[in-house]
Amino acid sequence: MSELTATIFNIQKFSLHDGPGIRSVVFFKGCPLRCFWCANPESQNRMPEMMWDNQLKKETIVGEKKTVAEVLQEVRKDQVFYEESGGGVTLSGGEVLLHAQFATELLKQLKQCDIHTAIETTGFADEKAFQQVTNYVDLCYFDIKHHNEEEHKKGVAASLAPILKNLTYALQTNMEVIVRIPIIPQFNDTLEDAKQFAQLFSSLGVKNVELLPFHQFGEKKYEYLNREYKMKDIPQLHAEDLLEHRKIFEEIGCVVK
Ligand code: SF4
Repeated sequence: MSELTATIFNIQKFSLHDGPGIRSVVFFKGCPLRCFWCANPESQNRMPEMMWDNQLKKETIVGEKKTVAEVLQEVRKDQVFYEESGGGVTLSGGEVLLHAQFATELLKQLKQCDIHTAIETTGFADEKAFQQVTNYVDLCYFDIKHHNEEEHKKGVAASLAPILKNLTYALQTNMEVIVRIPIIPQFNDTLEDAKQFAQLFSSLGVKNVELLPFHQFGEKKYEYLNREYKMKDIPQLHAEDLLEHRKIFEEIGCVVK
């Protein structure tokens, strides 16, 4: 099983933002969604690809095939820091569920090493793959981009229905689930949107919510990939812009970050 491979585009060490404690974050390449605001466009295609910096006249190849054993060996180097800080390993993307078999095997081996596991996911996958992977997950950051099926399809080129099915399942397990909403101008940023999200979350029993204000950190990458960036010149949002949104989720009993 450890001969399974996946395309990984980064293993970030000493992360403090992707779960509790000090963590290593493994970024898988390949995503079934096409969010028009995506800050990691280099994560979307499953295969390795080239980024070209025209100013530095320098190319970088993004993505490298790795086996489960190679990834495990790399992240275990920091096991002592996970143990001291209450941290662990987070699988992110792209979309980790596109690599369900690989991720399941990696997570299983991490649990055998007594390492805390987290995933960051869009939830867009068939139910079997989702259930198989999350069997070995302690904490799931579950993204929801829109509350309405048609708007969801327009914004990310994929249906909301399978995502909600998997979210419903996730909330019935013992896994800790934190639902994240990226708040995107002219897509899902109104207070009416927040009320619709809150209504949906209330019906599903969502307890923990994180609001992620839109940012421009990905802009340069579109240039390096020679792709069009649809969010050029759209102002970033900040935590203080979302105080009213926050109240709407708190009113239905959610803990909001
Ligand atoms: S789900 Fe994430 S990685 Fe995939 S396209 Fe959307 S923002 Fe990008």
